[in-house]
Formats: sequence, C-alpha cells, structure tokens
Amino acid sequence: MSSRQSVDWIALDADDTLWHNERNFTAVQSRFRELLRPYHSDEWIDERLYATEMRNLAHFGYGIKGFTLSMIETAVELSEGRITGREIAVLLDMGKEMLATPVEVLPGVEEAVKELAADGYALMVITKGDLFDQETKVARSGLGPLFRHVEVVSEKREADYARILERYNIAPERFLMVGNSVKSDILPVLALGGRAVHIPYEITWAHEHVAEDVRHERFARLDSISELPAYVGSLGG
Ligand SMILES: [Mg+2]
Repeated sequence: MSSRQSVDWIALDADDTLWHNERNFTAVQSRFRELLRPYHSDEWIDERLYATEMRNLAHFGYGIKGFTLSMIETAVELSEGRITGREIAVLLDMGKEMLATPVEVLPGVEEAVKELAADGYALMVITKGDLFDQETKVARSGLGPLFRHVEVVSEKREADYARILERYNIAPERFLMVGNSVKSDILPVLALGGRAVHIPYEITWAHEHVAEDVRHERFARLDSISELPAYVGSLGG
C-alpha cells in the first residue's frame, strides 16, 4: 500500500518550472559586469557578486529585491566606493525592470496544469522569493485560478514542506512536488516521504546546484512538463 498509495496533491515550483526566471537574472548580471568592467575582470565580478548574494540571503532572503541590493553592495565594494550615484540609479532601474519583466510561461505548462486540474488533482504552487513579486507573477501568468494555494516561503527545506503539509492536512505519500531544483524541490520532499519529479531547466543557479544524481523509488525525472499528466496517471492508486 505505502509505495503505491495514490497522489492527490501536486505542488509545482514556480521559477523555471512554470515560467522563465533564471535567464532574466543572467541577462541583468551581464549588464552588471559591463558597468564594473573598468574596475575588474568578469570572473572576479561574478565571484564577488555571488559571495555577496550568499552572505545577504540571511538578511534579505531570495528574490529580486535582495539581488538588487547585492549588486549595489558589490559595486560599492569592487569600485572601492568610486561608483557614482548615477550608476547606482542604473542598478536600481535594472532591479525594477526585472520586477516588470513580462511573465513568460514555459511551453506545455498551461496545457499540463489544466489537464491535472481537470483530472481532479488538488494543485498548489510552492516558491521562494519576494512575496509581492511571486503573487503578481502567479496573477500575471493567468494560471492563478488553477491553483488552490500559493505558498511563498523563505526557504524550501524539509521543515518548510512539513509545515505546509501539516497546514493542509496532507499525508506525505499523497503529495507530489514538481520542480527544476534538485536541492530545493526534490531532496527535501523525498526525505519527508513524498514523491518528487525533476524537470530540469536550461540554466541552474550555482546556489541550487547539487553534485550527485538522485536515485529513489519515489522520484522521476521528466524532459518536459507535458509528460507530467501521463506520469501522474501511471502512479495508480
Ligand atoms: Mg525553480
């Protein structure tokens, strides 16, 4: 019974699972490099920005606001204070542009999510990031009405998932998490006794990278979200 118990709750990660995200950061980071090129090499700029972001996660959490502040802090550090007010204004504008970037839903997402909803699965979004930004992205994606709940969390560790399952009274064996990050979407859910499906995205942020491959009876990797409804159907009950 335990390993074949049917899934009735499906949670989807948002960034790089439902819509493009990481490539927006990558594009802004290349403009950031251009701004600091008079002071340092591209590699050193990337390295220092990443170090600042990691240090600042504890202060600002995930999302565009924290990233923008980390760009400013790195620019001040790498220019040894010579960065101008005008250049800082450019960085702030880059952050605001990111927040205003149109939500581009990934291919096959709308069809797959609609099919899962029509098949009677209860759907939710579980995502990290800025609360306001993520809520407006769900609304702008047009997918909002298909989800029963949208959970914006500060971290996606085992305890964070446990809290969500408890809040909605969901047994782990009835729960499937789908996402592009092995570290955040897959491993903590498997540890909790749930199922997980990995759908890789074209780019993985260094912070989400894990070295080892996943082998687990409650885990699958799919090339596309279009394969998800058939996979879920194959789990049986
Ligand atoms: Mg993601």
